[in-house]
Amino acid sequence: MSSAPTRPIYLDNNATTPMDPRVFEAMRPWFLEHFGNAASATHVYGWEARDAVDHAREQVASLIGASPKEIVFTSGATESDNLGIKGIMDGRRWMVDGGLSEAKSNKQSFVDGYRPGHIITCVTEHKAVVDTCKYLESVGIEVSWLPVERNGQVSLAELEKAFRPNTALVAIMYANNETGVIQPVREIATIAHHHGALFFCDATQAVGKIPVDVTADGIDLMAFTAHKLYGPKGIGALYVRRKPRSVMLDAQIHGGGHERGFRSGTLNVPGIVGFGEACALAASDMQSDTERISGLRNKLEQSLLEIPGTSVNGHPEFRLLNVTNICFSGLEGQSMMMALSRFMAVSSGSACTSVTQEPSFVLKAMGLSDEEARGSVRFSLGRFTTEEEIDYAIDKAREVILQSRQEHHNA
Ligand SMILES: *Cc1c(COP(=O)(O)O)cnc(C)c1O
Repeated sequence: MSSAPTRPIYLDNNATTPMDPRVFEAMRPWFLEHFGNAASATHVYGWEARDAVDHAREQVASLIGASPKEIVFTSGATESDNLGIKGIMDGRRWMVDGGLSEAKSNKQSFVDGYRPGHIITCVTEHKAVVDTCKYLESVGIEVSWLPVERNGQVSLAELEKAFRPNTALVAIMYANNETGVIQPVREIATIAHHHGALFFCDATQAVGKIPVDVTADGIDLMAFTAHKLYGPKGIGALYVRRKPRSVMLDAQIHGGGHERGFRSGTLNVPGIVGFGEACALAASDMQSDTERISGLRNKLEQSLLEIPGTSVNGHPEFRLLNVTNICFSGLEGQSMMMALSRFMAVSSGSACTSVTQEPSFVLKAMGLSDEEARGSVRFSLGRFTTEEEIDYAIDKAREVILQSRQEHHNA
């Protein structure tokens, strides 16, 4: 880079991505000219909004191999996590059309007074899942918290052991936001279904970065959000399976019966249009983006690993290609982060937990000490990361790390 950038370079794409200008252009007319309510059935203002929503719903569904009717628009992945998990565990009508396990079918639940009473989840889930499950625990639902291996993956043997007769749901994420570690989703789905449970997956970090196919992956409910794939903030989706068995949820927001009754409220038409466009672009650009971004990620990772006392957190192979989470051992994490932040926007832990100064619970669950977790940094790249920026980041990170080591040593 010829001159120093005026702002720190952005390497925090797992917290949020900048909006793609093509997405912004697609959204623009839906703020001013075409402001209609998609539920207005009596005039052209409503019809054009509805058509735009229909088109976007197809774009979103297509990216994940779903049918448009299976997409429920929400305000983001946090809401989708809440709706997917609480909507099942409220349990008044969680599955119709038979279901996987006769004993747990919807019909039976009314006859026998069956209530889904147990969830299996994992300690390294996003807070939106962790806190939802903790809430359910506080109102009497049983929750099993699976540990993870040192590489960040859940153990399938532990999963097998966790089932109980009343297990209704397995909630495990696709890819972790802090480390990028990808869970063995297909195996998890198969095991969940074998035990007559549904599989809920928070795929917020995976959708748009790697191919996700709800049918091939065996996912019954899936949360994701636009602002992690170059779309706008405040719009997300919950995928809710309809075929071959229809999953039923209890709404968490009641009102006009929008979104098949699962989520009431006037639709965010510009947001939905932007989400659709972002998904279409993700589908068309995924391969070229992945090749370019993974090349830059590898360059960054390999260069940082040349610094003594550094290691990568997370599975060497089953990991998203845009992120590297690096442990710089023997360093005081907070002062290192402060020094780094002058040059680059990176994070320790996730954006949602970094307001507190606690070391990352994800890294601690993988067996890192408090000190190692505090000395770890997540670098997450994206569509707009350039090679110049990566070269600059490598230089500055080296400088900061070597200097911090010196200071730490002298102190
Ligand atoms: C960002 C993120 C969320 C929250 O998404 P919002 O749309 O900001 O609510 C949930 N889960 C994971 C894995 C995430 O990375």
